[in-house]
Amino acid sequence: MKRKYAQLHLNFGQSDFMFSNCKTCGFKFVPGDEEDAKLHKEFHKNYTHGIGFKSWRNERVIETHSLENSRVILVLNDDPPAHVRKVEEVIKMMEMDLGDGWIFHKHCKVYLFISSHRVAGCLVAEPIKKAYRLISNSVEKSAVTTTKDGKLTPTIFQFGNISFQRELRRKNWLPKNERKSEDALLGAIVCENDAVTAVCGIRAIWVTPSNRRKHVATRLLEAAR
Ligand SMILES: [Zn+2]
Repeated sequence: MKRKYAQLHLNFGQSDFMFSNCKTCGFKFVPGDEEDAKLHKEFHKNYTHGIGFKSWRNERVIETHSLENSRVILVLNDDPPAHVRKVEEVIKMMEMDLGDGWIFHKHCKVYLFISSHRVAGCLVAEPIKKAYRLISNSVEKSAVTTTKDGKLTPTIFQFGNISFQRELRRKNWLPKNERKSEDALLGAIVCENDAVTAVCGIRAIWVTPSNRRKHVATRLLEAAR
């Protein structure tokens, strides 16, 4: 995995065998070097638990939770520079896992999940005008019942109090060669050709490794709704 960090050593031509790579956070360090060990420890904690966060006087709090005094706050591009810088820091961390340069632009709304004085998760949303409904892949087809006339009944997804209705395309409608390629798309995300109106797109959502499976992403999505 590609990792980014500032160069911490003067390079006098030492070869890479001097360095070790942390398997969790990807930090490259010289074993036994005290300064490296300190830098790695700090970086490791920021990566696994989230970047440190001191409360702001004027936070735009969207949602709070008694558990570990956690909350979701919203940061916009016109907010104080210190707030925007914090977002940039978090985005850099996300880019290590999700790839560089595409996550954030100035029209984005950024939701930060704060827990135990750290940014445990982040959702980047953007205003959009249209979206394309997903067509589910064949793995999920087993969850759908077929009626007598061969029509597949729509599947309803419940997300909070919003339900998403999904019509599945019948496999038999496709020409034979396409049917084969549809099977090959197992696991791929396929969408319909026609757009529907939409107002909010989720560009990226990321939770720090130690906070995964704690419904952080769900709470971020609910805050963004
Ligand atoms: Zn590490």
